[in-house]
This record gives sequence, structure tokens and C-alpha cells, in this order.
Amino acid sequence: MSTQELNCSFCGRSKPQTNLLIAGLDAHICDRCIEQAHGIVSEEAQEETGGLNFELKPPKEIKAFLDAFVIGQTEAKKVLSVAVYNHYKRILNPKVEQEIEIQKSNILLVGQTGTGKTLLAQTIAKMLQLPLAIVDATILTEAGYVGEDVESILTRLLQAADYDVENAQRGIVFIDEIDKIARKSDNPSITRDVSGEGVQQALLKLLEGTVVNVPPKGGRKHPDQKFIEVDTSNILFIAGGAFDGIEREINKRLNLQAIGYKTTSATEEVDKENLLQYINPKDVKSFGLIPEIIGRLPVLTHMHPLDGKTLRSILTEPKNALIKQYVKLFELDGIELEFTPGALDYIVEKALEYNLGARGLRSLCESILNEAMFDLPGSDETALKVTKTYAEQQLKKANTSKLKAVS
Ligand code: ADP
Repeated sequence: MSTQELNCSFCGRSKPQTNLLIAGLDAHICDRCIEQAHGIVSEEAQEETGGLNFELKPPKEIKAFLDAFVIGQTEAKKVLSVAVYNHYKRILNPKVEQEIEIQKSNILLVGQTGTGKTLLAQTIAKMLQLPLAIVDATILTEAGYVGEDVESILTRLLQAADYDVENAQRGIVFIDEIDKIARKSDNPSITRDVSGEGVQQALLKLLEGTVVNVPPKGGRKHPDQKFIEVDTSNILFIAGGAFDGIEREINKRLNLQAIGYKTTSATEEVDKENLLQYINPKDVKSFGLIPEIIGRLPVLTHMHPLDGKTLRSILTEPKNALIKQYVKLFELDGIELEFTPGALDYIVEKALEYNLGARGLRSLCESILNEAMFDLPGSDETALKVTKTYAEQQLKKANTSKLKAVS
């Protein structure tokens, strides 16, 4: 048979009409038909998995992954692992979804600043290799006011997904400081707090699942851009906030309960030191989130304040622990960096003083190491041992130079 007579067995094109013709046992296939067949196979596979291309791990394995990056917070991790598992199980099984609508498992994380709320959201996104947008609720306003419209959240998610709409539509949004848009009073008739409640109303639609026209470059600076339609039904929303003072609401409710059930409650000891563990949706409502929002964030959990022992672990244990990062940074300059246990204890002690959770650790390490990071690269030094005394000295220097800068 001459090459002239060879045809693609699928579309019939002759060899000269193709870029490539591949021979099988009794047939040939051209490059175009291969492309087309490949498209059909991927589409089928996507349909079967609801468009997701990852293997969903059971909650226990999700938690184990979180454990490698986030110290402590066992309760929050368990609750989150289950919520994430259920959320993506729901997307992976669109057929079940048609028979019975499984509700979304959006999450509300309550806990002080620097306790790992953002880190949890980041770690989940990392594990699932999904796009993540982190937004601060305080910059959001109702349409027409100064600030960003809630749609800007989805602009960020699109950006995080490199404008792959499909991927963005099953991504994760972390809304920080959700407590800052609480209504100032629980009684709507007393104050109409436009900024807070209006934003809550606008957010509600996103949380519920709706199709939003999103300006791909964000807000008002580019009025001519074409909108992109984004369906939020499968986006996982995680909201976080410190809810300063919510302990008062919890305490009030617990006391009321105690009066109501005097006979039984006497046996139940309330841990007054950590009231957050008793948090329930009623308290969040008393704090000023509207019931509809609370209803759309059905998974509620709390973060523990970080004690010294936990802070110490955070410094050294996670996969990308701060100390490990600095050791690596110095190593790249051929310098062996070491912290004595006394120095680590000292950093923890200072961080507790700052009361910024684990956030303080980073700025402390920066202050302590700044001079060395400036002086050592390019010098003959090959080692640096950070002792408590060294850390104290550097911190004092850093503080005085900051004072000088102010004056
Ligand atoms: P939040 O969102 O609760 O204010 P973040 O998650 O932003 O706190 O944490 C601030 C910093 O502290 C991050 O660099 C994070 O890595 C670290 N961090 C906070 N909590 C933990 C924790 N439980 N385990 C490990 N690192 C933590």
C-alpha cells in the first residue's frame, strides 16, 4: 500500500490532509481525531467526578495533613476535616445531589487573632490544591458606598485560580474579621447600622449560592471590562473572627440556663477560663450577626488561645516552622544557625507578653535576627548561636532603634 492510500479510520482524511497519522493493528488515527477522543475521555471523567480532579481523603487523613502544619486546635481541626470532606463529597457526587440536596458546609471559626484561623484555611487549600482567596470583611461595603463590593471577593478567587472559572467555582474563600461587620445592637429597631448589616445581606447571597457577574480585574477602576459569570454554589466559605467579648454572651446564656435547670446544672462544672468552647449560634446572634448569615455558616467551631507550650511547638515543629525557615535562610549563605532552648523560651515569653498569638513570634524573630541577617552574608562567619542573652540584646537594640526612628 502506498502512503497515498492511507486514511484515518475515524474521519476518513487521507494522510496528506493530516499532520500525523498513527497506525494501529487494522486501523489508523489522525492527530485531530486523537485530540477529539481525548476531549471526550476527559469530559466523561470530569462528569463522573463532578469536575474535580483529586482523590478526596477521609476526614482522618485530612486532619493528619493539617497536623503537619497547624499545632494544637484539635477540635477545630476535626470539625473542619468533616466539613471539608462533606463539602467536596457533595461536589464529587453530582448524581446524589440531584436526588437529595445536600446543604453546603460553610464554616465559622471563632477565636483570637493569631491562633491559626487563616493558616487552617490555607492548609486545606494547599492539601486540595484549590484556589484560595483571603479577604478582610472590613473592606467590604454595600454597593454604592466607599470600599469594595462583595463581588470583589470573587475577583480575588478568579485571580487565585488564574481565571479558570471551573476551578474558581469549587475553590475556597476565607473571610477574615467577619465579626467586624456585626450589627452594633441585637435590636434592629434601635440602630440601623448600614455598613454592618448591609454587608451581611450582600454576603448572604454569595454564601447561599448564586450566579454573580464578576468584574475580572476588580471594581470600579476598569468600567469597560467584560463580566465573568461565577456560580458560588460549590465554593466553600470559611469565615473567621475574634468576636471580642462574646464570652459575655456565652456566660449570660449559661447563667440563664443554670437558673432554668437548677436541679441538673449543679453537677455540670462550667470552665469559666475558656468559655469559648461552649459557643453556639445563639451567642453569635447576640453578638450581632444576622440569623440568615449564621444559618449559612452552619459549621461553628472555636480556636483555643495559644499557651506557652503551644507557642514553643509552633516555633519549631510544623513542617515550615519559623525556626526551620531561618535555619534554611542562613544555610543558603553557608551559615549554621542554632537557637538554644533558653533563647526559644525567651521568645515564647515575649510573644505571650505581646498577646498577639503566634503572630508575635515572627516579628520577634525578625528583630532578633535582623542585625545578623544584615552583617553575616558575605562575611567570614560560618555559625551563629542565638542564646537568651543574645536575643535579649538584639531585641533591646531593635526597640531603641525603633524609638529613635519615631523621635
Ligand atoms: P489568625 O487567622 O487566627 O489571626 P493566622 O492563621 O494568620 O492567625 O496565624 C498567624 C501566624 O501564626 C501565621 O504565620 C501562622 O503560621 C502562625 N500560627 C498561628 N497559629 C498557629 C498554629 N496553631 N500552628 C502553627 N502556626 C500557627
